[in-house]
Amino acid sequence: MSQLLFDAIDRRAGKFQALADRIWDFAELGFTETRSSRAVTQALEEEGFTVNRGISGMPTAFRASYTHGEGGPVIGFLAEYDALPMLSQEAGATTPSPVVENGPGHGCGHNSMAPMQALTVCALKEVLEKEDLAATLVVFGTPAEELLACKGFMARDGVFDGLDAVIDCHSNSFLGTSFGLQNNALFSFLVEFYGKTAHAGSRPWEGRSAADAVELMHAGTERLREHMLPEQRIHWATLSGISAPNVVPDYARTWYYVRSQDPVIQDLYERIRLCARGAALMTGTKESITFLAACHQRYSNEALARALYRNMLKVGIPEYTEEEQTFARTLQRTLGVPEVGMDVKITLEDAAKGPFKGDSSDVGDVTLKAPTASLQFPTWVPGAKAHTWAVTACQRSGIMHKGMVTGARVGGLTVLDILTSPGLLDDIRREFQATVAEHPYVRYLNDEARPPLAWHEKDMAVFRPLLDEKLGTSDE
Ligand SMILES: [Zn+2]
Repeated sequence: MSQLLFDAIDRRAGKFQALADRIWDFAELGFTETRSSRAVTQALEEEGFTVNRGISGMPTAFRASYTHGEGGPVIGFLAEYDALPMLSQEAGATTPSPVVENGPGHGCGHNSMAPMQALTVCALKEVLEKEDLAATLVVFGTPAEELLACKGFMARDGVFDGLDAVIDCHSNSFLGTSFGLQNNALFSFLVEFYGKTAHAGSRPWEGRSAADAVELMHAGTERLREHMLPEQRIHWATLSGISAPNVVPDYARTWYYVRSQDPVIQDLYERIRLCARGAALMTGTKESITFLAACHQRYSNEALARALYRNMLKVGIPEYTEEEQTFARTLQRTLGVPEVGMDVKITLEDAAKGPFKGDSSDVGDVTLKAPTASLQFPTWVPGAKAHTWAVTACQRSGIMHKGMVTGARVGGLTVLDILTSPGLLDDIRREFQATVAEHPYVRYLNDEARPPLAWHEKDMAVFRPLLDEKLGTSDE
């Protein structure tokens, strides 16, 4: 059956590698991924998947499914495709060289993720039909991961309910997976203050400054830092406020990220909400808070992660050409990291034994709705770091193409293991039930909360035509 799967992957690899290249060219920021989403869903439809678009009110989100037989398990696959601001970079260039100055680029490797998952499920579909195995395969197209503003809304709306297992994925410099409790939960919200404008010189007593309110709120939250848990994080960015000193500003806003472990994030948020309230009281302004995103910590399923890892050892790492090794070493020289070439490791990480990671992922919500583990597949040069131009440079290359095939083989074999060894799914389920008994899913986003669909619209309107001109891409 493995050979059947590998043949089915090999036959389709070219098509889905070209798809990853196209998504790299599109370089669409969160919620503007109209072309990327369309290209992935069209490819899945061509292979016989049924596609629903516009999930949870997000036009670029989708759900694509295929069922063979009756009563089989439902396996989910998470697929991201958003780019990052400011990381435009020429493919294969080993020194900083943007395609478009300050333009967006795939510096987190999301361009190969949806195509890799699509390659996996299309090959699996062929195996299910030939071997008459019952299962439902569901790909979730999840936009705007970089805003952490998608999967939390989908989880709130029940999109991930009823899944037996979920394979998440991420492009990386290694082949690996992990298990256990990881990362921080996150609340992302805008705090807006409304005051009263006045001439700052002649009639300042009539004004109520929204900018003062922002400053006083920050003063309050900065003093919280000494009195919070070591794992907790607060960061803020003032987005607008004072544009001229001689006008008392009647509007100012600041964007907050609050990160913490799940059981205490709401307590920390409440203390910050009171800082906003206090700042408004002190300045005679009014405050308003709008949630942009919220997500839980990540609880990766050990039984599923171990199944992935066994298949990683089976599949092994790709063979690289001398040219690819030279590219890797040259890039490593630029980055000032050891010039080891494509020295790709295979790893299984127990989160409890590693250092605490204070960042967040919106996969967290999925891990509390269904047993989930993440497949990290090798698409970039060891030593290059996510969210840098160096990753963008790697993400349209033979190295990335090979990593996609490796990832699809590992994911595909793991699904076949789930379908053919019933004890595995029992183990996965039992562990998941114990996890959610201890750490239940809590609804962080209320019914009124909406994904910030327009967040990157203006930037993309500027950069899309510039990228099209340089790369020859278009809406077609
Ligand atoms: Zn990422």
